[in-house]
Amino acid sequence: MAAITLNAPKLFDLGGRVALVTGAGSGIGQRIAMGLAQCGADIALVDRRTDDGLAATAEFIAGTGRRSLQVVADVTSAEALVAAVERTERELGPLSLAVNAAGIANACPAEAMAESQFQTMMDINLKGVFLSCQAEARAMLRNGRGSIVNIASMSGVIVNRGLMQSHYNASKAAVIHMSKSMAMEWVGRGVRVNTISPGYTATPMNTRPEMVHQTKLFEEQTPMQRMATVDEMVGPAIFLLSDAASFMTGVDLLVDGGFCCW
Ligand code: NAD
Repeated sequence: MAAITLNAPKLFDLGGRVALVTGAGSGIGQRIAMGLAQCGADIALVDRRTDDGLAATAEFIAGTGRRSLQVVADVTSAEALVAAVERTERELGPLSLAVNAAGIANACPAEAMAESQFQTMMDINLKGVFLSCQAEARAMLRNGRGSIVNIASMSGVIVNRGLMQSHYNASKAAVIHMSKSMAMEWVGRGVRVNTISPGYTATPMNTRPEMVHQTKLFEEQTPMQRMATVDEMVGPAIFLLSDAASFMTGVDLLVDGGFCCW
C-alpha cells in the first residue's frame, strides 16, 4: 500500500501566507479578513472608509496573534491599489491570497436611472474588482503562486424579485464572467481566480433605509427561510483560497441558502 501523505486539516492552513482584503472595514470583507487571520495569514486591510471599521478589524486580528496593516484606499484608483500591494509586500511579505469584497448596492428603476448612478456602480463593483485583481495578480504572477476570491452575488445569476437594481445585477454578472476569464489567463502560471456569490446576507448593506422593509421578504424567499450571517461567508472563502481547492479555478460558488434552486 502506498504511503499515506494525506493531511486533510493542513489543506485549510493559511499559516505564513499574506493576504489582501478589500472592503475589510465592514460586513463580508471584514469577517473574511478576521477568519483568514485565524487560519494563520497576515492581512492587508483595504477600505475607503475612514471611520473605525478598519481599526476594529485590525484589533481582532491582533488578538489572533497575526499581523495586519490598514490601507485607506479607493478601489476605483489603480494607483492606490498598486501602492497598497507594494506596501503589503514591503511590510508583510510576498502576496499570495486576495479577497475582493469592496462593493456598493442601491436601487432605482432602469427607466429613471441617471447615467452617473449606473457609471458609479460599474466603477466600484466591476472596475474596482478588475483593478484589484490586476494589482494583486501582478505580484502573485511574479511570486509564482496566488489565489484570488472575488465577492460577486447571486444577483449575478438570478434577478432578485422586486429589487430594481439592473446596474448592480449587471455588475455582478460581469464580475463572475470576468473572474472566469482571468482564471483562464493565469491558469498555467500558478494563480487561481474564483468567485463567491452570496445570497441575502445580514450586513450594513442590507440595513440601509430603503432595504429594511425588504428583510422579511428576503427571509421568506430564501429556501432556508433566513438570511446568511457574515460568518457563513468565511468558510467558503477559506476553502477557495486554500490548498483544499487547489484544483478549482474559474468557479462561481453560490452561498445562498438554496435560493438559486427555486
Ligand atoms: P458593506 O457595505 O458592509 O461592506 C462593503 C465595504 O466596501 C464597506 O466597508 C465600504 O466602505 C467598502 N467600499 C465600498 N466602495 C469602496 C471603494 N470604492 N473603495 C474601497 N472600499 C469600498 O457590504 P457587504 O454586504 O459586506 O458587501 C460586501 C460585498 O458582498 C459587496 O461586493 C456586495 O455586493 C457583496 N454581496 C453582499 C450581499 C448582502 O446581502 N450583503 C449579497 C451578495 C453580495
